[in-house]
Amino acid sequence: METKVSVISVKTFAPPKGCRGEDGPDFKGNFRKGELRGIIRINKEKCVGCDTCTKFCPVDAIRGSLGVAHKIVDDACLACGQCLIACPFGAIEQMSFVDEVMKALDDKTKFVVAHPSPADRVSLAEEFGGKPGDISTDQMMNALERAGFAVYDVNQSADQTIWEEGTELVKRIRYWILNDRSPDVAMMAHHPLPQFTSCCPAWVRNMEGNYAGWVPHISTTKSPIQMGGTMAKAWAAERVWKKDPASVYVVAVAPCTAKIYEASRPEFHQAYDYLVKTGRIPASTPVFPDIDAVLTVRDIAEVFRRKGINPLHMPKKRERTTMEVYTGAGTIFGASGGVMEAALRTAYKALSGEELKNPDILGVRGRDQAVVEATIPIPVKALGGKVFNLRVCVVNGARQGLPAVMHKLSQNRDAYHFIEVMNCPGGCVNGGGQPVQSMGTAWLKPALPLPLHA
Ligand code: SF4
Ligand code: SF4
Ligand code: SF4
Repeated sequence: METKVSVISVKTFAPPKGCRGEDGPDFKGNFRKGELRGIIRINKEKCVGCDTCTKFCPVDAIRGSLGVAHKIVDDACLACGQCLIACPFGAIEQMSFVDEVMKALDDKTKFVVAHPSPADRVSLAEEFGGKPGDISTDQMMNALERAGFAVYDVNQSADQTIWEEGTELVKRIRYWILNDRSPDVAMMAHHPLPQFTSCCPAWVRNMEGNYAGWVPHISTTKSPIQMGGTMAKAWAAERVWKKDPASVYVVAVAPCTAKIYEASRPEFHQAYDYLVKTGRIPASTPVFPDIDAVLTVRDIAEVFRRKGINPLHMPKKRERTTMEVYTGAGTIFGASGGVMEAALRTAYKALSGEELKNPDILGVRGRDQAVVEATIPIPVKALGGKVFNLRVCVVNGARQGLPAVMHKLSQNRDAYHFIEVMNCPGGCVNGGGQPVQSMGTAWLKPALPLPLHA
């Protein structure tokens, strides 16, 4: 008999009115003007003070005595939603842009693009009574098109992220290990090793707030979603869709609630800057962000429900468009170790001049380990084939693995050359925007003692 997956519905609330960009919230606490705060909140009427959420928060941002309604300290919160998926009483709520996106879909002046992440397609079926993986990528894209979106797969922009991030790692190695002082690596004087990954916005906010001394070490590469927002408006609008970029409205569909925060960061209107600078749009055009709205997997399921679409019933095949072409590197971003593995393939080829014989570097996958360490021997062409041992580390869940790794680095900055940090245990497949299971995250084997899910 087929087992049906039942998920718990999560209460949402609308964002503050006119909450983006120049009209966004004022500078408050450690949030800059325009940045969204309070994306995850506890409903004090529903909270019984059971304390479960505090055991899952990676930064101890939740306050409250046992038996008393708890509260999230916004300045400390990373918006990762790990508390939300762990709360056994459904007392934690998420800011949602579903209403805004529904309005945009009805607005004939807008060309609305859905930008779905690698991990979405694994979990979407659970919202419709299916098992993980029951909905194929093609079915998900067909459902998005039926709802009125054009589609642009994040797997494609994840490939671009990997080119950037792998190239940056190679440049840092050339500057700091191989003492190369060529002009193309000169800027790496300001970007030392080890290099940290930058695709997880909860980790980026965690670093900025709690490990600020390490900021020069974080990759300058944008996350796949932000890379995609810029590409959509600065390139695809003109070259692929033949649309006015100011009319393109990009909706990131993410397994993640921290992406809602990331999209509101005031630096992310780079397509606008480029388009004005190159004279493609007049300077009088009001500033628009690279990503206009972020929906979680739960949110996009709600859009489908409102439109009467069940992705499980969509055709299983489709002709993929220009914006849906990608490699396996982009695909594995959704799992812990995936970013590392993909970047290592690029770095290995660039330094050795050869493709890896076995491109699956499974030794760096997080699986159920909070911290994974590995050494990758690379025969460096510039050194006549002399082997450089690249020391890498994968942090699989910030609460479980990060404190030990940061402590180790504080003792020895050279412990690793490259470190992947994903806030959520298992990576984005277990993100705070995914369908919520009654099991929560209790199946994991944590490095720190965590209580069983209540
Ligand atoms: S897990 Fe839920 S019910 Fe328990 S303290 Fe946290 S918010 Fe309240
Ligand atoms: S959203 Fe994440 S960082 Fe914020 S309180 Fe919840 S678990 Fe902690
Ligand atoms: S691990 Fe993935 S889902 Fe979790 S906060 Fe980071 S980007 Fe979001």
